[in-house]
Amino acid sequence: MVIHDAQFIVSNIDYRQCPQDDKPEYAFIGRSNVGKSSLINLLTNRKSLAMTSSTPGKTLLINHFLINNEWYLVDLPGYGYARRGKKERDRLKKRIEEYVLCRTQMTLLFVLVDSRHEPQKIDLAFIEWLGENGIPFALVFTKSDKLSATKLQHQIEQYKQTLYESWEELPPIFVTSSAKGTGRDELLDYIEQINR
Ligand code: GDP
Repeated sequence: MVIHDAQFIVSNIDYRQCPQDDKPEYAFIGRSNVGKSSLINLLTNRKSLAMTSSTPGKTLLINHFLINNEWYLVDLPGYGYARRGKKERDRLKKRIEEYVLCRTQMTLLFVLVDSRHEPQKIDLAFIEWLGENGIPFALVFTKSDKLSATKLQHQIEQYKQTLYESWEELPPIFVTSSAKGTGRDELLDYIEQINR
């Protein structure tokens, strides 16, 4: 897919206030610092379309970007902020869960995990929750440039083994590096295929 137009549309705290048209939405989620903003900027070919986690407040919102006037790329809040108080964490959790469960336009959720880390409890719990609720998702391994090819393969295998413990079928898996541009075409082509 060629991205000829990418525009920031709106930020919301509530899925009910998100754009009212029926364009398909592809949402991106992951823990803070997983490389979500960098990946969105890579996909859209913009240096700073998505604000990085260093931008205060931005990571707490549901951000809609209109791509080629055809579909929305949705930047969801990062989950599992250990530093925030429980109240704030719960509010954020509700915001995410409501969007994921109730936003009928959401076609697919890309769950980002850092290639360098072993499967993390919080990511596995979120994936489990997606399964229980029948939410379509794909798994994206970010920052792949930070590992050797062997180590990367090992990390992905480890994830697969963990998922096989409770899943009969694995979700689609993508490997990306925003530093090297890896995985951009695969991910966009996948979205294009679904949109057809
Ligand atoms: P977010 O909090 O998930 O939006 O994460 P950011 O996109 O802001 O990235 C967090 C940090 O990881 C920043 O310092 C990025 O430069 C770095 N980073 C993100 N993606 C990559 C990548 O693919 N490769 C490398 N080497 N660093 C990355």
